Amino acid sequence: MLGVLIGACALFGLAIGSFLNVVIYRVPRNESLVSPRSKCPSCGAPIKDRDNIPVVSWLLLRGSCRNCHAPISPRYLYVELAGGALFAGGAARLGFRWDLPAILVLLAGLLALAAIDLERMILPKKVVYPVLAMVAGLLVLAAAVTGDWHDLLVAAVCSGAWFSLFFVLNYASPRVLGFGDVRLALVLGLGLGWFGWRYVVLGFFAANLLGAILGVTLIAMKKMTRDQPIPYGVFLALGAAFAVFAGPEIVPWFTRIH
Ligand SMILES: [Zn+2]
Repeated sequence: MLGVLIGACALFGLAIGSFLNVVIYRVPRNESLVSPRSKCPSCGAPIKDRDNIPVVSWLLLRGSCRNCHAPISPRYLYVELAGGALFAGGAARLGFRWDLPAILVLLAGLLALAAIDLERMILPKKVVYPVLAMVAGLLVLAAAVTGDWHDLLVAAVCSGAWFSLFFVLNYASPRVLGFGDVRLALVLGLGLGWFGWRYVVLGFFAANLLGAILGVTLIAMKKMTRDQPIPYGVFLALGAAFAVFAGPEIVPWFTRIH
């Protein structure tokens, strides 16, 4: 039965990835998510339904517009694949649990935000707040069904704590830490805090370790200068995803050290 759940979530994740591509393109441009239909950015031809199948269409058209043959960014393919992989992974990690929908929304939200931050160095409120509201609502539902109100309380406290920490850091040094990251901390604290405060710590450290390793590497390779801004939200999202998936292996290991 778990296999069926993972398969269904993988397919659902591919479709969600397709929707996230619309979010990633339109929200920073202040365009509506529902209308008009998706069109080719080069020639303006509307995308037909048969060309809108996640992954398959991109591969069949070899990443180009059917009408004008202008190349379509591989980002569309990557986001769809990542959506499928994250949802399959989330289902494998949690199984038939009531908090699965909340965690899938969290992962989808982080994927969209990471992609937007990577392209534009912003974390739009119009994405962060709806994700926060959906994750919070779904966690309240999960807590109501299972009676895990304690977990929800821990999640709320972690959300507030991470937000406060980043709020202070942003106040002290707005150039290093943007306010988008402060808002994102609310989501990360809530989602990871649901599993316990150690997951929050793990996600935070994983994000910074990854950012530091990549930053040092890029500077050493002269692909980046020391004072160039980095899309910190990308690393925060990666760190959080790492905590969700690797937490069950790593957290028990470091709880034994006192
Ligand atoms: Zn075109």
